[in-house]
Amino acid sequence: MRKKIVAGNWKMNNDKNETKILIADLKESLKGVELENTRVIIAPAFVFLQRTAKKIKNSKLEVAAQNMHQEESGAYTGEVSAKMLKSVGVNTVILGHSERREYFGETDTLLTKKVNRALQHKLEVIFCFGEKLEDRKSGNHFEVVKAQLKNALFHLNSEDWQHIILAYEPVWAIGTGETASPEQAQEMHAFVRELVAERYISDVSEEVSILYGGSVKPANAKEIFSKEDVDGGLIGGAALHADDFLAIINAI
Ligand code: PEP
Repeated sequence: MRKKIVAGNWKMNNDKNETKILIADLKESLKGVELENTRVIIAPAFVFLQRTAKKIKNSKLEVAAQNMHQEESGAYTGEVSAKMLKSVGVNTVILGHSERREYFGETDTLLTKKVNRALQHKLEVIFCFGEKLEDRKSGNHFEVVKAQLKNALFHLNSEDWQHIILAYEPVWAIGTGETASPEQAQEMHAFVRELVAERYISDVSEEVSILYGGSVKPANAKEIFSKEDVDGGLIGGAALHADDFLAIINAI
């Protein structure tokens, strides 16, 4: 049975103290909660990853990085490698977030390299993809998503897919307060699962978790998560408030 996952992308938010408090609140609140087949992942900023990895040991939380560099090591000032992440206890990395694509020029070609490097180091990848508003308006959204997945992931073999989590994040719904309807999310998730099924002969498509991201809030989480092909959420803004994030976890 594929896993349900709720992942919080904290982006460039929270200083040291705020990070400490949020983690402590989440840890404490999740103590008595039975998380059946559900993983809870938080992705604080790079500088807090090592400390977070230590703090969440023996708790129900897991930690992820928000990004990593595609090269093994070298003269890449300001960058962080897969090996560095692993060495501080991080086992999951978010790649391909629309903000990385938009503000840092990340292309499918670059993301292929990042995915390969992450897998080489046995890092699990939460791979984000999704169409822009103009793609949806022109009816191109399926084609755009298909190209993003094909270009960055379809060279992988079936075994690699055990370390891939997909996150459908329509760009027009991220941080805008506008959410894809549960039907729109289900339609795209089913399309993606079918694409994976066409590409891989094994049961990869049934096993891969496909998360929805884009203005998920306590008020809409339950309806979105109730859809057959939605296996959880990648949460931005609402992940910064313990109560909201816990309500979203509860909704799953
Ligand atoms: C995100 O950035 O991945 C995201 C889903 O953000 P928000 O929930 O704030 O729309």
